[in-house]
Amino acid sequence: MRCPICNKIFSPDDPEAALPFCSERCKRIDLGRWMNEEYSVDTVNLDKLEEAIAGVEEENAQEERGEDDGPN
Ligand SMILES: [Zn+2]
Repeated sequence: MRCPICNKIFSPDDPEAALPFCSERCKRIDLGRWMNEEYSVDTVNLDKLEEAIAGVEEENAQEERGEDDGPN
């Protein structure tokens, strides 16, 4: 199937896929577009968007760390 964000052809079985997007990254870009519309501020929204994306990336990083670190 084709990613609506980057138009890349990808397999929905791909573990990297975040349906209907090819990756978490494109999913976040789509989320950012929604937030852009919600804020509808001209220049400030880019900062807000980057903040939002940074926040999501931190969350994801923590989740990934949690999965990787087994009980030791
Ligand atoms: Zn994509």
